[in-house]
Amino acid sequence: MSPRYQVSGVPAFNDNYIWVLHDNHHAVVVDPGEGFPVIRFLKEHGLALAAILITHHHGDHVGGIEELLETHPGPVPVYGPRRETIGGITRPVGEPDTVSIPELDAAFHVLDIPGHTAGHIAYWDGTRLFCGDTLFACGCGRLFEGTPDQMATSLDKLAALPENTEVYCAHEYTLSNIAFARAVEPDNAALQQRAVEAADTRRRGLPTVPSTIGLELRTNPFLRCHEPAVIQTVLSQTGAQPTDSVAVFAALRQWKNTF
Ligand code: ZN
Ligand code: FE
Repeated sequence: MSPRYQVSGVPAFNDNYIWVLHDNHHAVVVDPGEGFPVIRFLKEHGLALAAILITHHHGDHVGGIEELLETHPGPVPVYGPRRETIGGITRPVGEPDTVSIPELDAAFHVLDIPGHTAGHIAYWDGTRLFCGDTLFACGCGRLFEGTPDQMATSLDKLAALPENTEVYCAHEYTLSNIAFARAVEPDNAALQQRAVEAADTRRRGLPTVPSTIGLELRTNPFLRCHEPAVIQTVLSQTGAQPTDSVAVFAALRQWKNTF
């Protein structure tokens, strides 16, 4: 069953997307790093704010909470990671909580996905995944507060979701992620095709997000740490045979930091 609500991406800062889930009346806002563009969007579309969902504590994801609440009087629940301290959060959540949004007939499973930050969470309703800065289109977030082991476990959890799950990450990093992915897997045909399509999408000024779990499984090197071609690349980069898939992941993430 596909959800009743639609999703619009409100661009913020240089490359953030603030996802607005809405029907014709109500809206849920994910990671409002800025208030102003969201407030304008809600006003233009005549939408009442039903809830705010936060994935992690970074400023480009939480900076607009206060301003947004100020312009929408009345109690608006603000959900966010139980293991992080974030001003404005009224409903701290973690796995296995469910977040119900009756206004949109939606219910989200909360997934604990530490690594980018220590308490990072995602929201998944069976069809759509809002994963902040953990899984990106053809890439993954930096390890600011977590270990490679934690991040690899978090990515495995997301990779196990149904292949048709739509993946809404919080940044438009796709082209640079694809450039890195091609260095890792130069012979991946699905990746070559994605490169062509994503370049065309960006040329037309459109977002490359959402992607799907299926597309990420076929093209995202950070979800492909078991693939012989990926292991081979890590071997030739580091000169050492990685001991397991976490070591492959750690080497890829390290390399990406300076790519
Ligand atoms: Zn972040
Ligand atoms: Fe971010």
